[in-house]
Amino acid sequence: MNISHIEHIGIAVKNIDEAIKYYENVLGLKCYAVEEVADQKVKTAFFMVGQTKIELLESTSPDGPIGKFIEKKGEGIHHLAFAVNGLQNSLEEVKSKNVILIDEKGRKGAEGLNIAFLHPKSTFGVLTELCEKPE
Ligand code: ZN
Repeated sequence: MNISHIEHIGIAVKNIDEAIKYYENVLGLKCYAVEEVADQKVKTAFFMVGQTKIELLESTSPDGPIGKFIEKKGEGIHHLAFAVNGLQNSLEEVKSKNVILIDEKGRKGAEGLNIAFLHPKSTFGVLTELCEKPE
């Protein structure tokens, strides 16, 4: 596996507009994109911090993954995303090392990245995303 950096940290929030205000007015970061990812039932907002992003996630439906997460655990850090070189190879490698995959293959995530999730049961409780810029 070849991880280059932490691509982003995903944070589940109830109200993305209120959260954006905090990141902008208190932390002084600039939201550079807001995007809805329909198949994940989320609205996302992005902030750049060095080469790492903060990805705010608000559920667009109570039965979406973020809606369920907030119901169970409340707001907070939802996942950690690593940028990898070679997403499919990385998935095959971690699978061979007995990590449970949520996604067997990469799929389209926010910002046009190819992404796949590893199950938190196999990653010491941290929902882990691997992502790669498409060629
Ligand atoms: Zn993510």
